[in-house]
Amino acid sequence: MSDRYASFAHTGPGRALVKRLGLPDPPRLRRHRPGDPLTTAQVRLDAASGGRLVEPLAKLLDSAGVEISGPAGGTTTPAGSTATPVGGTTASAGTATGPGDGAGSRVPPQAALLFDATGITDSSGLRALFDFFHPLARSLQPSGRVVVFGTPPESCTTPREATVQRALEGLTRSIGKEFGRGTTAQLVYVAPGAERAVESTLRFLLSGRSAYVSGQVVRIGRAEVPEVDWTRPLDGRIALVTGAARGIGAKVAEVLAADGAQVVALDVPAAGDALAEVANAVGGTAVQLDLTAPDAPLRLADHLADRHGRVDVVVHNAGITRDKTLGRMNPDWWDSVLEVNLSSQERINDVLLDRELIPRGGRLVGVSSIAGIAGNRGQTNYATSKAGVIGLVHSMAPVLAERGITVNAVAPGFIETRLTARIPLVLREAGRRMNSMAQGGLPVDVAQAIAWFASPGSAGVTGNVVRVCGQSLLGA
Ligand code: NAD
Repeated sequence: MSDRYASFAHTGPGRALVKRLGLPDPPRLRRHRPGDPLTTAQVRLDAASGGRLVEPLAKLLDSAGVEISGPAGGTTTPAGSTATPVGGTTASAGTATGPGDGAGSRVPPQAALLFDATGITDSSGLRALFDFFHPLARSLQPSGRVVVFGTPPESCTTPREATVQRALEGLTRSIGKEFGRGTTAQLVYVAPGAERAVESTLRFLLSGRSAYVSGQVVRIGRAEVPEVDWTRPLDGRIALVTGAARGIGAKVAEVLAADGAQVVALDVPAAGDALAEVANAVGGTAVQLDLTAPDAPLRLADHLADRHGRVDVVVHNAGITRDKTLGRMNPDWWDSVLEVNLSSQERINDVLLDRELIPRGGRLVGVSSIAGIAGNRGQTNYATSKAGVIGLVHSMAPVLAERGITVNAVAPGFIETRLTARIPLVLREAGRRMNSMAQGGLPVDVAQAIAWFASPGSAGVTGNVVRVCGQSLLGA
């Protein structure tokens, strides 16, 4: 599953050739390693006048040991900024100078640019975004982070406010495509009153855990967030991972275990040996079960009830493809894909919920696909099932919210696994390069996004479908 082109592009001659021919230039992405700090340099934080998030954000960053530059940190402010610092008075221009300022540019390298846009209530106020980002656009380190915070349009009090808050999406998605060098850019909508529920998402988006997540819109709602040990957020939690014998599922088991979870790894009996290896490696247990068997939900529920008395995190990762154009597709291929990827998950959720095996604070995480968003030739069955996973997230979120359980899904793009290694070369190269990172993602990228959803800190994160696709052009 090695990306030989990227390896070559990282060599001296490769770099020169890539530059001369204008070929895709895949950056080395900063990925999380245990013990890594959240950021590798200071973070610029600012707000449009009246922003309600800048103060809580500054406190969160401070308590996480992140150095803040700009008004909220009290050091510098971008030249010409119309933004208002914490405390309400506009600081004088500091060391930052903008693009086109040539040798005079003295903006120190920034790990992230964070902007609280919740104070913008009218389209004329959008200028604050330009004033903030324009002078700083070239100050970001490689694998830098851009996060704009807004108010969900549906929670806005006037049509004008809803209009400008929706406009923020255009900015962040474009920055993701424009800044390059592994920069990610996201829009985080924080509902009024949910200011304290932001921390798990802020930590995920700033860190190397979100290396391959870009151009996304995340919604955070009001929720009571418990105390979280951010080094082992899943300590004491029981996490079921289906399809855990290999690929993405095996990595999910590993990452959840590293975050402290006790993992129950499930896969088909035919994958028993590989499954046992994964379970042993993460200090978890293995369950050999075909999810499509009629008695699978009951057997699984009995197992979880007998062994653990509950399950806190359920990751529905098991999935199959049976690709053919619709007119040539065997009906069994349609049925089996829908059965594994969607129907079996619904049946399992129903039984686990009926028997109250998922307690308050529980987390359901689905694995969709960008094919479920954009559709894909030869994958009508797969795309239908994966769009169904998105439907499940949206339809179940309000129902489960009453029980204090969240439901979200990741939608991976091109991830380097055995599945994608089998794609013919030309298509494979297209899949790899046609995204803002000019490379495929790794199973760990998907696993880290799942771990973010699974965190007790993500109590306010529900009903979200977040793509782990390097901002793929497909379905954008
Ligand atoms: P994979 O084929 O390597 O692993 C899937 C696992 O699910 C296998 O171990 C398989 O035995 C298990 N499984 C299949 N049917 C099962 C059943 N009936 N009962 C129990 N286990 C079953 O696939 P992967 O690439 O690791 O993908 C994992 C998930 O991510 C899938 O849902 C897939 O659709 C999704 N996805 C993958 C990519 C990618 O690029 N690899 C992209 C988008 C979405």
